[in-house]
Amino acid sequence: MTAKSFVRKVPSGMSGLWRATAPKLARLDIELTERCNCACLHCSVARPAGDAEAKAREWPTERWQTLLGEAAGLGCLVVRLTGGEPLLRSDFEAIYLHARKLGLRVMLFTNATLVTPRLARLLRDVPPLEAVEISIYGMTRESCEAVTRAPGSFAAARRGLGLLAENGVPFVVKGAVLPPTRGQADEFEAWAAGLSGNAGPPAFAVLFDLHSRRDAARSAGIAGLRSGGDEFVRFSRRHGDEAVGEWGEFCGRAGGARGDRLFICLPAAASASVDPYGRLQYCLGLRHPAAVYDLAAGSLREAVTEFLPRLRETRAADPAYLERCARCFLRGLCAQCPAKSWAEHGTLDTPVEYFCGVAHAQAIAAGLLGPGEKAWAVRDGAERAKRRRNGS
Ligand code: SF4
Ligand code: SF4
Repeated sequence: MTAKSFVRKVPSGMSGLWRATAPKLARLDIELTERCNCACLHCSVARPAGDAEAKAREWPTERWQTLLGEAAGLGCLVVRLTGGEPLLRSDFEAIYLHARKLGLRVMLFTNATLVTPRLARLLRDVPPLEAVEISIYGMTRESCEAVTRAPGSFAAARRGLGLLAENGVPFVVKGAVLPPTRGQADEFEAWAAGLSGNAGPPAFAVLFDLHSRRDAARSAGIAGLRSGGDEFVRFSRRHGDEAVGEWGEFCGRAGGARGDRLFICLPAAASASVDPYGRLQYCLGLRHPAAVYDLAAGSLREAVTEFLPRLRETRAADPAYLERCARCFLRGLCAQCPAKSWAEHGTLDTPVEYFCGVAHAQAIAAGLLGPGEKAWAVRDGAERAKRRRNGS
């Protein structure tokens, strides 16, 4: 018998093995807990680590493991484990290992303060296949703990980073521009570049969402920390004008006004999020009751194949939105979305003045608008963006 008898060449598209079945869900974000051992000034989520009521309502290990299996069955490739602080869960290891056994890549978002030698070894031996993302707020103990409001968190986070580095677990660090950390970005970047285990340049949070659970006092606190549009532009320009050039390109690529469709932020089947109590949302911040699906009363499949596609068809009704955002050519720049509208106004479709101001400051810096011009009133916006994209 020759090898020929066993081998038949077929075009890859005709092979059962390679025939693509479009995934129903590319990524699942799981907020394992709202609780955190830090209490960061700008946090839009966290409850105290010892919040017994929240802890009692959190889904148990088996529910998460079942959900991960359902996600894998829908074609999901990546799961993001976040919080609050996900490492507060005593069953983190069991959930993590279950995800990896299913073949899912794991994005772990943590403040690193609870990384133990055992966990670092586990991440070494069963790698997440994505760099661990670590929020570090501040280059000194004083500035860091002024943000986290958790004594000892600076040393604990550095210890956690050290354990990951010793075990060869790749990570990236993320900073935030807040009153206690303003002016530290260059130092932060230089420090991050020198970290063993660091897998890429740090990201910075500069623009903050209000409290996603709509706690008025916490939202007022966050609003008081925010950088304005001009400060955001200055920060983005600190290494040159590359970012500003990209803003023009984004606008050109986004192709003009968004119309009255609200959910333009995510392509179909991109991702979904589940909170600690089994409620599914498009993204972690979007907690408007009309945009939440209770998995206890349904299934992940129904949520991603029926509920989310229906939600995507939602149209704006707010007159201010229809007058402004629906006709605005800054869609590629502006952070306006239903989740921001929810956090600020408790609606899905109210323009958010803060993000509007930031987008206008960016557009002026990029030469898309003149001072005083309003993007929604500009009739040749798409042409301006196209010209910027073509470099003219
Ligand atoms: S570490 Fe993260 S989750 Fe915890 S309080 Fe700070 S921002 Fe919130
Ligand atoms: S810049 Fe203002 S008008 Fe334009 S999309 Fe953003 S919030 Fe709406």
